[in-house]
Amino acid sequence: MTPGAYLKHRRTAHGLGIHDVAAALATEPRLAEHVRAEWLEQIEADIVPMSFNTIVALRRAFVFDLDILAQLAAIAMHSPIEPPRLCRICACSEADPCLGHSGSCSWVAEDLCSACFFHEPADRLAIIQSAAAKRDVAA
Ligand SMILES: [Zn+2]
Ligand SMILES: [Zn+2]
Repeated sequence: MTPGAYLKHRRTAHGLGIHDVAAALATEPRLAEHVRAEWLEQIEADIVPMSFNTIVALRRAFVFDLDILAQLAAIAMHSPIEPPRLCRICACSEADPCLGHSGSCSWVAEDLCSACFFHEPADRLAIIQSAAAKRDVAA
């Protein structure tokens, strides 16, 4: 998975559209929202490099693992490191699991987590969002 694809999977797993995130990126240079949305699409397609400020702003919009992003970026730069284990649907990882009522998700396959395997996308979304809300309260 590329760094841009990782961000896209995590954004989608949180039920956010590109425009939701573009609207949240108010700290970015004063671009019109539709321009910001196009620019985000290009980041997610690995066409445009992401700045550190962008990563920080995105991290405030939805949860992803900065370590994983750094590992994927290193791999994209041909570093000889093991690719991180990610769910192919939601891109969750050991350090950033889906948290539901019954605890964290687990692996049901090399690249598939139990939350994605057992739940319909809409149910999974409700679970992830309620976990994210809890996390926000705790933060
Ligand atoms: Zn998953
Ligand atoms: Zn998961």
